[in-house]
Amino acid sequence: MVVNPVLEVHDLHVAYGKVEALHGASLQVGAGQIVTVIGPNGAGKSTMLNALAGAMPVNGSMRGTVRFLGQDTAGVAVETRVARGMCLVPEKRELFASMTVEDNLLLGSYRRYKARESGYADQMAVVYELFPRLQERRKQQAGSLSGGERQMLALGRALMAKPRLLLLDEPSLGLAPLIVKEIFHIIVRLKQSGVAILLVEQNARAALQAADYAYVLETGEIALQGPAAELAHDPRVIDTYLGLAKKAG
Ligand code: ATP
Repeated sequence: MVVNPVLEVHDLHVAYGKVEALHGASLQVGAGQIVTVIGPNGAGKSTMLNALAGAMPVNGSMRGTVRFLGQDTAGVAVETRVARGMCLVPEKRELFASMTVEDNLLLGSYRRYKARESGYADQMAVVYELFPRLQERRKQQAGSLSGGERQMLALGRALMAKPRLLLLDEPSLGLAPLIVKEIFHIIVRLKQSGVAILLVEQNARAALQAADYAYVLETGEIALQGPAAELAHDPRVIDTYLGLAKKAG
């Protein structure tokens, strides 16, 4: 049981038209935790994150309960969720390619700027401290960044909103091993700075190393769950998701 949950999901079902992709998933993310959901292609990981963020496609429908910071999110618009501190970094990263790195970051704080929140621009210094590479490239067009730098920018832009909970959809996707290591190092630093993180990943090894708690999602259902360090030693997880590690180790 999580003592101080930031996110509580109970019996979440998501369907596209008549086809159900998620069949009653329940999970929790505690304050200051990294919780990961691992699973194969098509298991429903992105479906779950998008539903949690309120970003459902037109043919999508959901039922179940989602509480963020103790409040039910039913009927709460995406922008309101962001304003309350829930921020999705989608798998496709969705940057503005022809805008500079800095302008992409500023867009991340647009809501705070509009709400005339003080200090919205100060957050830029926090992001540059975490990602010196973004500062070096602040005048460069986002479209000309490497894959790893784009992922950093997508994370940095989300951080500009000063989130309490980050929903990360496969941050390692398409990145070389060394860059994956760098990104995960930063994700752990984010947790240390007090942001709770729900991390969806196919890279089970990296995800289980970084996370406190883990769920295995298979064909729309939570098949296994437990402390990440324990799941990393579960023979079923090793066989299906960490096969190479077993051979190597
Ligand atoms: P991946 O790791 O490949 O991204 P995933 O675990 O994130 O996979 P989802 O993208 O959530 O899986 O897909 C779950 C199922 O829902 C798949 O069968 C997929 O084809 C289906 N699906 C996803 N989006 C839609 C949509 N907009 N309309 C209809 N079906 C969809």
